Amino acid sequence: MKTVHVDTGRPYDIYIEKGVIDSAGEYAKKLSNAQKVTIITDSNVAPLYQWRVINSLSAAGFTVHTHVFKAGEESKHLGTIAEMYKALADFGMTRKDLIVALGGGVCGDMAGFAAATYLRGIDFMQIPTSLLAQVDSSVGGKTGVDLPQGKNLVGAFHQPVAVLIDPDTLLTLPDQFIIDGMGEVIKYGCIKDAAFFDFLEQENALQHLEEVIETCVSIKRDVVSRDEREAGERMLLNFGHTLGHAIEKLRDFKGITHGMAVAVGMVMMTRAGEAQGITEAGTTARVEALCKKYLLPVKESFSAEELAKAAQSDKKTAGGGISLVLLHTIGDSFTKKLPLEELRAFFEF
Ligand code: MG
Repeated sequence: MKTVHVDTGRPYDIYIEKGVIDSAGEYAKKLSNAQKVTIITDSNVAPLYQWRVINSLSAAGFTVHTHVFKAGEESKHLGTIAEMYKALADFGMTRKDLIVALGGGVCGDMAGFAAATYLRGIDFMQIPTSLLAQVDSSVGGKTGVDLPQGKNLVGAFHQPVAVLIDPDTLLTLPDQFIIDGMGEVIKYGCIKDAAFFDFLEQENALQHLEEVIETCVSIKRDVVSRDEREAGERMLLNFGHTLGHAIEKLRDFKGITHGMAVAVGMVMMTRAGEAQGITEAGTTARVEALCKKYLLPVKESFSAEELAKAAQSDKKTAGGGISLVLLHTIGDSFTKKLPLEELRAFFEF
């Protein structure tokens, strides 16, 4: 068992252990006075794990209801949230009851948002089952839902009572979802940890998943503890994301996963930094090679004009400028504010 303590406004622990999913009831009992628990999960994850969680919660004395929504990014809209509210209200969930988010990033973001807003906020526990959710989205308390105009445009900061990470759930994932998560894993090495980047280069990360998850979660914990609401340092976690989101948008979210788009964004951003003389020469080659090693894409054919236009609608723009995350070198990242009109030229390299 590895435990990572997160010291946000409301502190909580992340428990990383094979089989921890079967202890969900014990953790819930320890951390919550709930009588009822609603498990929110999707149609892919429900058949795999819902009974293990239901059994564990029931054995701990909770009355359990499961709400299943259709798996996939297309479900990430307010209509799905409205169905969650209905399920919670119909089941008679009160303010002291508990939501368990069981699934990948989409599930955690939406179940977390339902928890943040139902009855002005109730407790929730994260049980992330995808690599992306385990290393990234389940930690930090960001919850949200997409609008037709863009991703995660509605949301709330709401910290879970605990995160239970069971690396064994990754064994059932199709390769594509492992590749997706590796985009965010590599990001952590790039922005904060050169030794971890070396490790990913030298070893096969997939044979060391527990250590990899612990390292990523610890880096995110450190950043989020210092900057819970993204006033400064937390922005570094967006490395590769401004361009990544632009690419996802230009592709209409089809044929590319989030982690894949982030990989392309990281490589392009590093190349732009090198072209400007801000990033140490040779860094792009290493980031590119590492992404390729884990089967991530490293380029896209969109023009600087298209990318700049799509990036401008990103929610990270403010006051006529956009904050870009760049690397001095591997493990050493910083943000640079750029006027929007200079964005296109920045991407022309
Ligand atoms: Mg991300």
